[in-house]
Amino acid sequence: MFRSFLIAMKELNKDSFYKSMRWQRKREAILRRDGYMCQYCKRYGRTVSATEVHHIKFLEDFPELALDNNNLVSLCSACHRKQHPEKGRKARGRYSAVSDRGGGDRKRV
Ligand SMILES: [Zn+2]
Ligand SMILES: [Zn+2]
Repeated sequence: MFRSFLIAMKELNKDSFYKSMRWQRKREAILRRDGYMCQYCKRYGRTVSATEVHHIKFLEDFPELALDNNNLVSLCSACHRKQHPEKGRKARGRYSAVSDRGGGDRKRV
């Protein structure tokens, strides 16, 4: 059952995964587990409500971890964007190193 779900996910696309009932429910469960707080902001003592659930190991690289609790973390949209430097910015290079460092705190005051 789970296998066929994964295959379907690969064959269709990420959009259909994110729209799936399974993901919607999982996402909700993760947010609840994390107390609806951004887990990355929390590391720095900030309280920011989470609006998104991120795949620590990217969905496209590790589809088998798509619904693995240990691979999912609740984030605010700002932190989430930092995990996906390729998304918001078309310019490659500069930003791509960030995601590999596991969210190092780059404070710019
Ligand atoms: Zn955050
Ligand atoms: Zn993500």
